[in-house]
Amino acid sequence: MSLEKLNGAPVLVVGAGIMGAGIAQVAAQAGHRVFLHDAREGAAAEAKARLAKSLDALVAKGKLDADSAAQTLARIEAASGLEAAVGAGLVVEAIVEQLEAKRALFRQLEAIVADDCVLATNTSSISVTAIANGLQRPQRLVGMHFFNPVPVMKLVEVVSGLQTDPAVAAAIFELGKRWAKVPVHARSTPGFIVNRIARPYYAESLALLLERAATPPVLDACLRGAGFRMGPCELMDLIGHDTNFAVTNSVYEANFQDKRYMPSLVQREMVDGGLFGRKSGRGFYQYPNDAPALPVALHEAPAHASEVTVHGDDAIADFLEQAATAALAAQGWGPARVRESDWTGLAIDGQRLVLTDGRCASELAVSMSTHEVAVFDRPLSLPAAPGTALAFAVADGASEHWRSQAAAWLAALGFAPLPVADAPGLVVARTVAMLVNEAADAVLQGVCTPAGADAAMKLGVNYPAGPFEWLAGWSVAGVASVIDALDAEYRGERYRVSPWLRRQRGAN
Ligand code: NAD
Repeated sequence: MSLEKLNGAPVLVVGAGIMGAGIAQVAAQAGHRVFLHDAREGAAAEAKARLAKSLDALVAKGKLDADSAAQTLARIEAASGLEAAVGAGLVVEAIVEQLEAKRALFRQLEAIVADDCVLATNTSSISVTAIANGLQRPQRLVGMHFFNPVPVMKLVEVVSGLQTDPAVAAAIFELGKRWAKVPVHARSTPGFIVNRIARPYYAESLALLLERAATPPVLDACLRGAGFRMGPCELMDLIGHDTNFAVTNSVYEANFQDKRYMPSLVQREMVDGGLFGRKSGRGFYQYPNDAPALPVALHEAPAHASEVTVHGDDAIADFLEQAATAALAAQGWGPARVRESDWTGLAIDGQRLVLTDGRCASELAVSMSTHEVAVFDRPLSLPAAPGTALAFAVADGASEHWRSQAAAWLAALGFAPLPVADAPGLVVARTVAMLVNEAADAVLQGVCTPAGADAAMKLGVNYPAGPFEWLAGWSVAGVASVIDALDAEYRGERYRVSPWLRRQRGAN
């Protein structure tokens, strides 16, 4: 299969729902003649009419010129049957998400298409290998996993099953570029790249909610503070808890009930109660109102201290030194610095404000021989905008004075401190460590490359950075330490450092 054959060849899109219509638009915009077929009579024509409206709207807004809109539309033809596949170079399937329906469709198509026609499936969760089973030419079936809305989202996962011909995957990859997308190769494994690596984004917040360590508005504020466009709770409300629970279950089952992917009782409760999120009017939040903003807490200035020392030698310690210098400037003195330290943070007259390494404040209090310990979450990018939300927790035996002083110091350093329970890895550190770990495991299993994982997460779910970019700004030992601390706390199979990460650590 060569790109030259695919380029400009007629395309048949089967399934004229939300995804099929978008795929037809993108293919037509790239110059292909497109046939759109749906089993429901009239559905393809309706999809074309909807597309005409949305193209008109783009023209009215000046975002598209009238000629290209007309040409795109003219290239799309509603087809009443599958015969349109006769001259097609590519068929993209976007029908109902059911293995048997997809298999039956491709078997039908095989009897119609030319020998060198490529067959692509837009499945989001079914094994490409399984869909290809029973085909006469399973090597020509490939996953072409677009994201919703297709005309807007840049990513396409090009998914290879066990029998997919690498030349077919390569040709579809190149075609993806011609369709103005960013293609990323993926091996067909549960969730492919994005739906797999993203699991901890929900799972870690759900775990914190289950043990009542933090509320949805606090979790959302912390992860938004780390640069994510939406917090996990508001995002789950948007996706719909029913849909998200189904995806979680399917990844869990497909991995033989690996504990790492175990759904949460919190999700089950929401689904059982019909609290699906936005679409049902209530999820973690009430709708139509948006997620409520957190009340602005005012923090007093830190009490006068006679000695402040910045510990650590990394970029976060550098930032703390700068911020503490600014905070102490009015008093006419600055902090000392101890670079060779086994922790990062501030020592303030014997009290400790410690960047989380995964361990709880109470555990650190034992090793530091003082109750006056607070841990704060990992700021993902520095300098953070003033007032960026940051979780912190204090040791069980800490005084009320230190509890309020820890918050006062974090506020003086420029953050909006949010108290959470003394859980390992707090909110951002734990979530990001698990995202990195999942990505590392995907690379270990040959699902994608590190660069592919980064591109997929940034373009498929709008992450502010890719997991391997986070890793580069953190350290393998740092990520592993957070996961090991979670494992020590929860004792199970959920928090396992990926062998890929351990090997990197060995190489360092
Ligand atoms: P949809 O329900 O909007 O559309 C599916 C369409 O397929 C319907 O119009 C239906 O009439 C038609 N159809 C069903 N069986 C058919 C058959 N045998 N032959 C022809 N037409 C048939 O669904 P959707 O959201 O567009 O999803 C389609 C596929 O894309 C699914 O495999 C889904 O998992 C995948 N996907 C969906 C999303 C998303 O966000 N919706 C994202 C990525 C991938």
